[in-house]
Amino acid sequence: MKPWVDVYIGLGSNLHQPLEQAQQAIKALSQHRHLSNVTASPLYSSKPVGPQDQPDYINGVVCCQTQLGPHDLLDLLQSIEQAQGRERKRHWGERTLDLDLLLYGEAQIRTPRLTVPHAFMLERSFVLYPLKDLAPDLLLSNGLSLSEHLTSVPFDLTILPIGI
Ligand code: ATP
Ligand code: CA
Ligand code: CA
Repeated sequence: MKPWVDVYIGLGSNLHQPLEQAQQAIKALSQHRHLSNVTASPLYSSKPVGPQDQPDYINGVVCCQTQLGPHDLLDLLQSIEQAQGRERKRHWGERTLDLDLLLYGEAQIRTPRLTVPHAFMLERSFVLYPLKDLAPDLLLSNGLSLSEHLTSVPFDLTILPIGI
């Protein structure tokens, strides 16, 4: 039997009814047969990184457990992006759905397709705050707990009401 691994997935959307896109992605992850104990953070709104002439984002983090290997999990995430009509217009530009693999257990992965922990997660408030909602005591790759690390990350998000 392969071991079950705790994984964290960042989600973002800023096109074609982003709130619905995020909720649909959470549902797709929850119903997937290769994922267990799927839990979603509250959702937040954030200003775009990269080009500023694009709509604000909806962001959240999902945690779950899986026996899939990291590249198979990336395939799964990309298939959900495609199923929701992922368009990639420009670097860090607008998109219907972005699913990033933030953490795969304690693995450190560097392949042409995959960098884990996600390369920019320690500097992105829209990743770190929803991650804290799920796992405040998580130990980060910089040796700090998530709560400790967040003391130096400004809160620049809008939290969305639960159940909208
Ligand atoms: P960023 O990575 O800065 O958040 P992005 O999400 O807009 O940017 P994408 O265009 O969605 O980038 O993805 C580009 C490629 O990044 C993907 O095809 C994938 O192979 C690669 N990639 C590397 N590491 C990861 C990861 N941890 N999660 C998801 N994709 C990754
Ligand atoms: Ca991303
Ligand atoms: Ca991505």
